[in-house]
Amino acid sequence: MKIGILGSGQLGRMLAQAANKLGHTCSFYDSTPSSATTGLGEITAGDFSNREALREFAANCDLITYEFENVPCDTARYLETLKPVYPSPKALEVSQDRLTEKEFLQKLGIGTPRFQAASSEAELLQACTTLGYPCIAKTRRFGYDGKGQYRIANPDDVALAWRTLNGVPLLVEGFVPFSRELSVIATRDQRGSIAFYPLAYNVHINGILHRSETPAPDLAPSVRTLAYDAITKVLETLNYVGTLAIELFEVRGEILANEMAPRVHNSGHATIEGSKSSQFMNHILAVTNSELGSTEPVSRAVMYNIIGKIPDLTDVNKLNNAFVHLYNKSERTGRKIGHITLINPSEREEALVDSLCSR
Ligand code: AMP
Repeated sequence: MKIGILGSGQLGRMLAQAANKLGHTCSFYDSTPSSATTGLGEITAGDFSNREALREFAANCDLITYEFENVPCDTARYLETLKPVYPSPKALEVSQDRLTEKEFLQKLGIGTPRFQAASSEAELLQACTTLGYPCIAKTRRFGYDGKGQYRIANPDDVALAWRTLNGVPLLVEGFVPFSRELSVIATRDQRGSIAFYPLAYNVHINGILHRSETPAPDLAPSVRTLAYDAITKVLETLNYVGTLAIELFEVRGEILANEMAPRVHNSGHATIEGSKSSQFMNHILAVTNSELGSTEPVSRAVMYNIIGKIPDLTDVNKLNNAFVHLYNKSERTGRKIGHITLINPSEREEALVDSLCSR
């Protein structure tokens, strides 16, 4: 099949690599194409509101999917009148606005951090007073990797927080004293079957994912059940087709949902080598109406992001259990330009890669 992908970053790259293995071809549409997908299919550079360019793109695809959640809903809805779009644009609508997202999760009975919306400095102060200090103000839209956030320690921070976040509508959250961060990833196919990946244990540095370990060590079965129940509710409510991720905080044996991503996710990259059928493979199987592959882990897997600058990989390349993925992106501070997955690593191997990938 010919699969159209909206977006052209590393997630599109890894989706296309999985699609190619399954005999499909891909093409990409992006407003500012990234070099990450160069050589993996035709790339259309076009505005997401350019209906003529979108029509032409759709004419050359059997179906359309996306690799980032900020594709405008109108674009996805328009494309849906031309070709099947998976997952449904409803998933974009819910996850593009942090307030809509938290309200959606809450309505499904999924625990979230306490939250309140704020559209003015006065409302921000009021939300902070209600939620207590410290709290975290987040822009409702377009935040990622910890960007568009401000940790407010006391009432004196409120004015600066409001100004720093540019006076846009905010979601304010109570600070969660979590014991660790987890994520749950699952894929749902067109018949409604769901394949769950083992939960990942994630460590962020400065709001950006640094390390992801699967299966999450020492995970209580009750926590796993809570996470699988939560993602099942989201997938079924949205009649979702494809791979979805939810980032979670683990707090005293409970989970709170931080955010959801209607796409393949950074904390699932280790599934390429660590599971029989990766999150990318299963996404492609789901959107092409095939049965899902096994998500069973083949081993313990630890993934490290390469951020900003490619380290000296000489020692890593000597390890036969290390898999280096470079995304063909130029080096830039804070930018995800690759990752390394270690399969069943020793402490020494982990320490080596951890130090190379620490910023
Ligand atoms: P986000 O962009 O919402 O994924 O947040 C980036 C990171 O900030 C998360 O991975 C957490 O480490 C931290 N964080 C976000 N929200 C909260 C919260 N309500 N309480 C404590 N830490 C948070």
